[in-house]
Amino acid sequence: MYVFKLKCPHCGNEMLYSSKTRFIKGKRKRCVYCGKSFEVSSAVVKDLNAINTKMRETK
Ligand SMILES: [Zn+2]
Repeated sequence: MYVFKLKCPHCGNEMLYSSKTRFIKGKRKRCVYCGKSFEVSSAVVKDLNAINTKMRETK
């Protein structure tokens, strides 16, 4: 399991995105804060290297 931190381009909130694959670009994700969906690109992925095997909440 790979975990990425995404930043919503609509509201600017950050959220975690977990995926079975590390290639998540082009996928669509719905923001848990504002409800709008956006495409996962390098602009919204905050840290592609933050690949952990366990979920970790960051503030
Ligand atoms: Zn949002």
